[in-house]
This record gives sequence, structure tokens and C-alpha cells, in this order.
Amino acid sequence: MADKKNPIGREEYQAALEHIRSKKEEYLDIMKRLVAQPSISARGEGVEECAHLLLEIMEDLGISARTLPTRGFPVVYGEVGSGDFTLLFYGHYDVQPPEPLEEWISPPFEPTERDGRLYGRGTGDNKGQLLCHLLAVHSYLQVRGDLPLKIKFILEGEEESGSPHLAEFASENQELLAADLVYTSDGPLHESGAPAIYYGVRGMLALEMSLQTAAGDNHSGNKGGVIPNAAWELVKILSSMKDEQDRVRVKGFNDQVRPPTAKDQELIRNMDFEPEQIARNFGVEKIDLEQEDFYWRLTLQPTMSINGLSSGYQGQGTKTIIPARASAKMDCRLVADQDPPEIFELLKQHIQGMHPGVQVTRQGYMYPSRTDPGLEVCERVLQAVQEATGEKPVALPATGGSLPDYVWTRILKQPSIIVPYANADEDNHAPNENLSLDCFYQGLEITARVIYELSR
Ligand SMILES: [Zn+2]
Repeated sequence: MADKKNPIGREEYQAALEHIRSKKEEYLDIMKRLVAQPSISARGEGVEECAHLLLEIMEDLGISARTLPTRGFPVVYGEVGSGDFTLLFYGHYDVQPPEPLEEWISPPFEPTERDGRLYGRGTGDNKGQLLCHLLAVHSYLQVRGDLPLKIKFILEGEEESGSPHLAEFASENQELLAADLVYTSDGPLHESGAPAIYYGVRGMLALEMSLQTAAGDNHSGNKGGVIPNAAWELVKILSSMKDEQDRVRVKGFNDQVRPPTAKDQELIRNMDFEPEQIARNFGVEKIDLEQEDFYWRLTLQPTMSINGLSSGYQGQGTKTIIPARASAKMDCRLVADQDPPEIFELLKQHIQGMHPGVQVTRQGYMYPSRTDPGLEVCERVLQAVQEATGEKPVALPATGGSLPDYVWTRILKQPSIIVPYANADEDNHAPNENLSLDCFYQGLEITARVIYELSR
């Protein structure tokens, strides 16, 4: 029986790599089998079947697994090895709807190899990536028989639907999910192809506001100048929410924003910055920011964005009316330690303080999450990723986007790290989703290195 006195040796790590390299075809076949099973959480198609297939695959790989119910689709939980250190891998087996089907070159659930990539819904997001963890573990079991650390898997079936039951599941299963580190591989590598590490995510809050100023639209001449215009009223509210420098002016909004640490600043300063290239990628004329400001705004600052705006007549030609109704949709990306429900109340107070007649509705939210990049365990993962790829990873305090990472850091109070494995052009959520086979095999080798490093 292996224990902490018997960490994975250098030769065993090398043997695991050899094993991975000799099993490429077999491992790819497992990915094809998993991708061929639809698991569209948005409409429940194939999700339960996929959970059972995953369970079967895990058992075949030597990982003891079971499905556990949530109030939605089940999670697949797996466990292997024993030792003082516990590593929890998080992933999701559900996928986005594949539509529009006519834009797929090969059908979404018939995994197909083309030009060094595997095409199919879920290849990159997230079946291929979660398999890297399962298969690296399998390789160690083959060459070593056991693992000197405890490895747990929590594979969710509702991530693409906003993980509505994961937080509840985690609160009710704290002991089962207890770990020294949570490790997630989701999303793409850096645009440059360099490996990436994120120590957190921004949170999110979506809301909608609507205003009605008259029973119906009015003639802009016959009644012009004497009654309010819903579009103007709404625009006044919106423009009061930010200043000329784009800073949010809602009282209290920025109060809980955690100031960057010296380590955060160091990470940001180490980032490559090519504003012309970034502008091209974003489809904008130019990026009018300095390097530090750019990454600071992208990871450690909250945003407030208008994502939908409607009022009045939108058809061809003109219609001389005073609109009676106007509405706007907004989303905020939030950072530690902002609390989404509290921020919603602040926004609502501000909006209704400007105009009590505006209806403000909350549409969904997710907490931000941060892990201290200076933790020893984080340094070791960074080291492992660099050793496995031969490249210095792009490391940022947080991703700009959102993942249910707060479940690990806020509810379970354990560190969590995000190390994406997919190619930058994986086209997840779009037609022709794919995972480059090089990225798949590199992901396997990164996981093998991380396990090796953390076993010592
Ligand atoms: Zn996704």
C-alpha cells in the first residue's frame, strides 16, 4: 500500500508518460465514445445516459465511481488513491446545444478527426479536458498500481445551464468534497498557445429594468414637450451610472472591491501586451490602455455593461412618437469581495432613486472567486505546468469570465486553480467545436506532471 513516504518516483512519472504515449489511440477512442453520447443539459437530452457512460468509463479505468443525485442532473463522483494530500478535479460532462446544425461540417455527436483535431460537441468543453485527468490517473494506476495521494473527481451535469444545484450539493457534501486543492481544466489556452493558469474568476450579476411613462406611444407633435419620454428617462438613468472615465458611480458599488496584492500586481506586470494584436482579435480600432491598466481592468475590476436596450420604433423609415415604454438589460462582472445580491440592491436603489417607476428584476448571478497565487500549492502547480510544457505559463489572478469556482473557495473554503487545456480556437458553444489532439495529449501530460508534483 502506497503512503506519503512513498511519493511517485521520477521513473514512475517517466513510465506514466511512456504509457500515455503508447495509449494515444486507445485514449482517443474513449474520448470519441464520450463525445458520441449527447448530454445537452439545456433540454435534458442524454444527460442521465451520459452520467452512466462516464461512470462506466471511470470504473473501466480503475477509478471507483458513483452517480449522486442533486435536485437537477446527477453529479458523477469518483475516488482513487490514498495519502495525506487530497486533490479534487472538477469538470462537467454536459454540453451546449449544438444548433445551428447546418453549420457543422461533421455532425456534432459523430466525433470526427480532421487536420489533427477531433470535432464534436463537447470535445473541448469539457469532455476532452476532464478525460485528461481521468486518463492520467489511469496511466499511474497501470504503471504503479496505486497513488500516494487521494484523488477525487466531481463531474457535473449542469455547468452549461449555470450550475444551478452545484452550490447546494457542495454545502450538503462538504466532507465528501474536502480537498487540499481543487483543479479545473476548462476553457482555452492563451491566444499565443502558451499554457495558462488562473487563480480565480470574476462573478456575474444580470438584471433587467423597464419603465412605462404613458398608457401607449403618443404623437411627438400633438403631445410633444408636455409629457415624459420613456427612452429619455431610461437613458438619463443609465448615463448616471457611470462617469466620463467609465467609472461606476452607483453608491457603494466599488466599496468591497479587494485591493490587488503585490503578487497580483507582479502577475499582471509579467503579462505580454501587444495592443495592436489584441485590438485586431477584439475587432476594435485600438486599445487605449497601458499594459497594467488593461489586465487590471480585465481581471481585478468589476464591470457594468448594457447588453440590451430597446424603446420606440425600430422599423424602416421614421415614426414620430414619444415612446411610452423603454427597457434595458445589464450585466456586471464582479470581483472579490463583491456580493452579487448586495450589489443588486445597490443598483436597484440607485435606479429607483432616479425614477421610482422603474421595475428592476434580477436575472441570475454567480459569486466571484479568488485563491492566493502565493500559496505553496499554487507555486507547485505552476512549476508542474511549466515543466510539462517547457513554457512559462501565462498566469493571472482571475479570468475575465465566470465559472462556479466560488463553490470551492467560498462554500468549501479550499484553494482552487484553473488550468485550461483546449486550443484557443476550440469554438466551444459554436458549431464545429473541436479539440486539437496535441492539446489533448499535452493536457494528459500536464495532469500527469501535476499529480507527480503534488504527490511529493
Ligand atoms: Zn461551456
